[in-house]
Amino acid sequence: MADIPKNHPRYASLMTREKISQAMKDGIVHETGLIAHGRGEAFDYLLGETTPPAAERACKVAAAALLNAKNPVLSVNGNVVALAVDECVRLADSVPAKIEVNLFHRTKERVDKISDELRRCGAKKVYGENADVKIPGLDHDRALCDKNGIFSADVILVPLEDGDRCCALKNMKKTVIAIDLNPLSRTAKTADITIVDNVIRALPTIEQWVYKLKDESVDELNDIVGMWDNEKKLSEILFFMSKRLNSLY
Ligand code: ATP
Ligand code: MG
Repeated sequence: MADIPKNHPRYASLMTREKISQAMKDGIVHETGLIAHGRGEAFDYLLGETTPPAAERACKVAAAALLNAKNPVLSVNGNVVALAVDECVRLADSVPAKIEVNLFHRTKERVDKISDELRRCGAKKVYGENADVKIPGLDHDRALCDKNGIFSADVILVPLEDGDRCCALKNMKKTVIAIDLNPLSRTAKTADITIVDNVIRALPTIEQWVYKLKDESVDELNDIVGMWDNEKKLSEILFFMSKRLNSLY
């Protein structure tokens, strides 16, 4: 990795870039993942690289939905594993939820590399290597998934999802939780619960809520999820961003 001085004002951001760029060289991140990361960075700038209050609440609702699910699945891609592999494994353990590798640009080699990385970091079982069914309504191999994983999941957490696939998962009547720094993306607008935050911050926040809500009753958890109004919360995030921008002048 490049030698970035610790006192550089953008140290954390630059180190994250180094991580993702190294993961591309290692065959974990697809080259277009770098572009997706750049778009994410731009929106994180607008948030002030902090978790807005609406995202904190979304993490609580996400934890409640995951805890109440019969078959919760955490869907991961190269970027997510490059940036937050330990956080993925810890969150999946805490619920507990399955982890499935699901790639937009799917190759066997990349699925295997990502799965190996997850196992190296403690995942006991990784779904997606032997994907045998397809998400209906999607072309190409990006629709491939495991029938015991994503295909039969009732609640699915999709950090950094593509809008098309998010719609297709919704059409399968799944509860979709998205983590997306862009509140304007189709994914953000289509998901049931959208966490507008960086995956690096959001995954540990959901995990903390899982521990806080673990002993709540099914009814209590249902209430938390039922009261969530995603459209309203997205407009709160846009208001947060615009207010922050206006305050900088
Ligand atoms: P959509 O398909 O949902 O309309 P899009 O086509 O604009 O979205 P994609 O390339 O499909 O975007 O998905 C990448 C998304 O991931 C972007 O919206 C980007 O903001 C988001 N993103 C990138 N890095 C991160 C990150 N570290 N944490 C959270 N979100 C991120
Ligand atoms: Mg897209």
